[in-house]
Amino acid sequence: MSDSFYTGASWQAPTADNQNTHAVVYLPHYASMQLALEHLDPNDSVNVLFPEVLEHYASEFVNRFPGDVLYAVKANPHPYVLKTLWNAGVRYYDVASLREVEQVAQLLPQAKLFMMHPVKSRKTILRSYELGVREFAFDDMSELEKIKQELPDALDLSLHLRLSLPSEDAAYSLEGKFGASFEMAGPLIKAAKAFAKSVGVTFHVGSQCMDPDAYRRALALLRDLLDNEGLELDSVDVGGGYPVNYPGMEAPDLGQYFEVIKNALHDFGFAGHKVLGEPGRALVAEGGSTLVRVEMRRGNELYLNDGTYGALFDAGSPKWRFPVSILTGDGRETQGALEAFSFWGPTCDAIDHMEGPFLLPADIQEGDWIEVGNLGAYGQTMATKFNGFYAEHTITVDEEPIVWRGPIGSVISG
Ligand SMILES: *Cc1c(COP(=O)(O)O)cnc(C)c1O
Repeated sequence: MSDSFYTGASWQAPTADNQNTHAVVYLPHYASMQLALEHLDPNDSVNVLFPEVLEHYASEFVNRFPGDVLYAVKANPHPYVLKTLWNAGVRYYDVASLREVEQVAQLLPQAKLFMMHPVKSRKTILRSYELGVREFAFDDMSELEKIKQELPDALDLSLHLRLSLPSEDAAYSLEGKFGASFEMAGPLIKAAKAFAKSVGVTFHVGSQCMDPDAYRRALALLRDLLDNEGLELDSVDVGGGYPVNYPGMEAPDLGQYFEVIKNALHDFGFAGHKVLGEPGRALVAEGGSTLVRVEMRRGNELYLNDGTYGALFDAGSPKWRFPVSILTGDGRETQGALEAFSFWGPTCDAIDHMEGPFLLPADIQEGDWIEVGNLGAYGQTMATKFNGFYAEHTITVDEEPIVWRGPIGSVISG
């Protein structure tokens, strides 16, 4: 049985219970990754999802984030992920394309969708509205005009001005492309208020943001801006950016982010506002691993059956290091200390290189499988079919992933 979602073939539309609050999507389930590999005998890499980890972060965000949680669907739009988050209480979804709108609306008809791409086609605006979307982002007067022209009779729009922020604290900056300048924000908010039912501001401190105070600084800047312009808002969306651990990148506990945001909302006069947050990475990264096989070893370079055109995009030119661990098929005990390895992906392209270093047993050899962790976000979903290499299987297992931080708040709770 193959999961066709990532392969481009039509996936089995989950029909059962679609009209109720409980969505069902089935994936092959195994007691362990090892048993799955024995049973599937796969030629390609295999994507693994860990339902309990996905559920854990979903409920922690829903219960502890000081506002409403919008899942940033692009991090992993797999129907199983969407369904698992829904069942764990996530009701709001941050979508950016018409296909994301259609997919989430079909799978989770009761979900509330936020179209947060600041630059949309006219068709996307109109069709999203027809599918029930009432929340739209914008960052320019021309986009506001576009929304007004496409939806002239809509009296129920909530508009979110995307502000541009300095994002020096994030490993992955999202600035420079989207977002209105602070100078333009006042006129844009006023123009939106003239025809929207509610108007708010949204920003994104950048992905994998390592400093919780970045959110506080953003809210402080926003308060200054509003006071200078003599404006008030209906909502504040503090965006995504909550980090997870990668080797060499130890993130502060998520609970610290929630505390800082909660306090800053209070200190800067946003306590009575509708508050939103858009986690992607921190909700789903640890909930997915990809299993890759060593096809050849040349010194400390491993040639794998997955790479930068597959789930390991961020290990390529962004040079992120991912947690790795060997899964030896024949029960062989690995010997010796861990050593540093670099990876080559399977395609013909020399760009398909991952510098690492990835720490693995010194005697790793051809045929060994490696679990690469933290690929539940911006990993499995990035894969292309270039050169005929792609994962055909997505499975769930009872095991835990190679890394996960367990209950959040363990550092600062209490
Ligand atoms: C990608 C994205 C997110 C999610 O960001 P993470 O860093 O994964 O939490 C949230 N909001 C917007 C607008 C995005 O583009």
